Amino acid sequence: MRVAVVGAGPAGIYAAEALLDDADVHVDVYDALPTPFGLVRYGVAPDHLKIKSIERTLCKVLEQPRVRFVGNVCVGADISIDELRAAYDAVVYAFGASTDRRLGIPGEDLPGSLSATDFVAWYSGHPDGAIRDMTLHARSVVVVGVGNVAVDVTRMLAKTDGDLESTDIPRDVLDTLRDSAVTDIHLLGRRSAAHAKFTTKELRELGELANADVIVDPAELAAGQELAEANAAVRRNLDVLTEWSQRTPAGRPRRIHLRFMVRPTALLGTSHVEAVQLERTRFDDAGRLTSAGPLETLDAQLVLRSVGYRGVPIEGLPFDDDSGTIPNDAGRVLRDGRPASGEYVAGWVKRGPTGVIGTNRSDAAETVRSMREDWAAYPSDPGDSAVDPVERPDPVERLRAAGVPVVQWDGWLAIEAAEVALGARHGHARIKLPDRGELLAAVAAQQQHS
Ligand code: NAP
Repeated sequence: MRVAVVGAGPAGIYAAEALLDDADVHVDVYDALPTPFGLVRYGVAPDHLKIKSIERTLCKVLEQPRVRFVGNVCVGADISIDELRAAYDAVVYAFGASTDRRLGIPGEDLPGSLSATDFVAWYSGHPDGAIRDMTLHARSVVVVGVGNVAVDVTRMLAKTDGDLESTDIPRDVLDTLRDSAVTDIHLLGRRSAAHAKFTTKELRELGELANADVIVDPAELAAGQELAEANAAVRRNLDVLTEWSQRTPAGRPRRIHLRFMVRPTALLGTSHVEAVQLERTRFDDAGRLTSAGPLETLDAQLVLRSVGYRGVPIEGLPFDDDSGTIPNDAGRVLRDGRPASGEYVAGWVKRGPTGVIGTNRSDAAETVRSMREDWAAYPSDPGDSAVDPVERPDPVERLRAAGVPVVQWDGWLAIEAAEVALGARHGHARIKLPDRGELLAAVAAQQQHS
């Protein structure tokens, strides 16, 4: 059996791992980037070294002899969905959620208003990142949303460059953070603190920063307290926030303000964001969030919209625009409401952008279980895979012949070596190459040597 997995992030790699339990399965893991590991490399904050170490586990899967990493190949552009379906017995789509959700308020597109997705891509050295020349002249930053990404971007803005020296963060990012003028970061939760999406472990880190005070108004913690009774995770968050609300600020150079029951109604400014207009929120009798009237206008020269990721469709695949996911039943892709032969889905593009990295393991396991059930019924359901596997052309050869600079595992190892060498020149364990040209040059240099 030959299976293609589209996306070399955790969901795709966990799917490959589960597939390898069958001794006769070979898996090609495609990625649009020349590098594997998806959001583990380009989403997990650089200072979260323990979470990043999951790379080592994921690496073991991609190193298996029955797995090929097929990097730098954009499915939908370099290779079509139809070609993949014809070349493999099954395809698992695990390409995640690569864009951001929108606020839908006036001023959202003013310069100085960025999606947290783009900001994360910037500090992670993503080669396709939208932000190239970042400056941090802003003194006051508003972060909209209170999920773990909001906490990540806040922590990255609040840390000193010394805290980040031991990470693989690109040099120019470190320089920009070192020169940052940021003094105040305001996180805005539109619902109560009890509804906040961040996890306690991540929240607590904000209170442990040497360089920043956390400031919480006790009055803004009043709503939603009743939810803590039935939910230990909510209780833990509220305990942390309550303790902070009683702290006297220590006069540290930066301040993190955590706000609840407030939302932005407009970003103000002429050629750049200058302020954020806020309103207080409340729950109406039906439990819906509604306006409780205008509030202050908050000075802000930078706004990071951290209101969740969103999946992006690939031509040739069914897609539900509302949820940003591929319609599926336990991982079986549904075309016109019916399971499509040989097409599966895993990870965020299956269930939406929720959960932690480990969630993708059980999610991928469910998908592979569905595949096995279908394979057990294979003789009566040959579908699109009736072509003799020996006669099927290898798409990797076709791509190479077409001039696509496919990056395989040895190419990735060359990138790793180049990043370690760059790090060594600056006294670091490793520094990321943030540019696709540099990544591909590292691969080409290795190919010339061998
Ligand atoms: P998220 O957890 O879904 O949080 C999104 C936040 O945006 C929520 O507070 C949400 O409020 C708010 N929001 C949505 N639309 C809004 C609007 N129009 N106006 C104002 N606020 C709005 O998303 P995320 O932070 O991007 O994280 C994505 C996933 O990655 C999560 O599962 C997260 O746990 C995970 N992650 C984990 C880590 C970690 O473990 N260290 C780090 C980063 C990300 P409502 O609840 O009111 O909708």
